Amino acid sequence: MLYKRSSALFAQAGAVIPGGVNSPVRAFNAVGGTPIFIEKAEGAYLFDVDGNTYIDYINSWGPMILGHAHKPVVDAVVKKAQLGTSFGTPTEIETQIAELAVSMVPNIDKIRFVNSGTEACMSAVRLARGFTGKEKIIKFAGCYHGHSDSFLIQAGSGAVTFGSPNSPGVTQGTAKDTLLARYNDIENVEAIIANKNEIACIILEPVAGNMGCIPPKPDFLKQLRVLCDAHNILLIFDEVMTGFRLAKGGAQELYGINADIVCFGKVIGGGLPVGAFAARSDIMNYLAPVGPVYQAGTLSGNPLAMAAGLAMLKELNSDEEIYNRLNSKTEYLHEGLSKVLNENKVVHTINRVGSMISVHFSKDEVVDFETAAKGNNDTFKAFFHGMLNEGVYIAPSAFETWFITDALSYADLDKTIEACNTVSKSL
Ligand SMILES: *Cc1c(COP(=O)(O)O)cnc(C)c1O
Repeated sequence: MLYKRSSALFAQAGAVIPGGVNSPVRAFNAVGGTPIFIEKAEGAYLFDVDGNTYIDYINSWGPMILGHAHKPVVDAVVKKAQLGTSFGTPTEIETQIAELAVSMVPNIDKIRFVNSGTEACMSAVRLARGFTGKEKIIKFAGCYHGHSDSFLIQAGSGAVTFGSPNSPGVTQGTAKDTLLARYNDIENVEAIIANKNEIACIILEPVAGNMGCIPPKPDFLKQLRVLCDAHNILLIFDEVMTGFRLAKGGAQELYGINADIVCFGKVIGGGLPVGAFAARSDIMNYLAPVGPVYQAGTLSGNPLAMAAGLAMLKELNSDEEIYNRLNSKTEYLHEGLSKVLNENKVVHTINRVGSMISVHFSKDEVVDFETAAKGNNDTFKAFFHGMLNEGVYIAPSAFETWFITDALSYADLDKTIEACNTVSKSL
């Protein structure tokens, strides 16, 4: 494939935008090469500025669960835009999407909309601290909760007790309040809590998606629930990726575990910049203007964003078969990829939950950040570029999940499996 115009645009962008991108994951630093500039997208396909077409497994990193340019979503946005794009006053559509979200998700009474998943997680943690009157939080190595300071804490020896900032600009003062735990390791979490009564909340991705896809071990979520109840700690499910994707009610519904606060993003905005966090009334009423915890946003609940999100949630809510279809398609892809990777003797492990799937180039089970990091990155790089060349666009990092959309046909999946077969022969 030719990437002539993408290369030129990337060079031009680099002069005025750091690294030529507005979010680092878009750069190809982990795999080498030039990021591809997309001209348009429709259904399961991306079309780049050089005239190449790709089957898309990034899907804007999650939101496009029904495929790109889904008509009801686009129509809703266009119609709303004609009435003015922002007022900074309440609008009826905010209540409509709130009512629908509260009806779809278990165990929440109230929801507040923000502009990104980062804002949702950041605000949820502030609310948890305000509500419990405690300061420390527990997060898991390899889980991503956006780029606010408290979350940019890396795993590492000794880091568990005195978190160390992994990004310059995060102060030691902030880092020390984030305690790191190992995903899927309940004893590790117990040891960190250790009866100290200083933990406000435990935040996690109920299915990890930001170190590749890693399912929670049986009972892990339940054990966290029990621990939180015993120690007056709020359990925060960061469902920015899993919300409205794994089920109407997300991971809470799929695993039958209630979180105290749930964070949303991605699918809930239908492809526009939206995040949200939700909880029982007694917790949510701690927020300004009823309660003391401050949280605000000039463009929060923006009419265009709400129109896209509402149209998306309505589609998901009214289609009884959507999650079964997504599961079946992902299972089909899983089986096909396994088959050709095995036939070509490529060492790998595939993890999958619902419509989240990832191929780890590692022979061992992948259950946490440490085991995810053992994957062979050279194999991944070759795989990524090989697939791209075959017209299959997966995320340019071994630590990302592939997202399956309803727009993918079985012919698209077959083409993807065939591409994997071709690429596997040269790995
Ligand atoms: C994407 C993501 C975020 C951050 O959302 P942004 O909209 O990029 O700020 C937070 N948590 C999880 C689990 C995510 O996947």
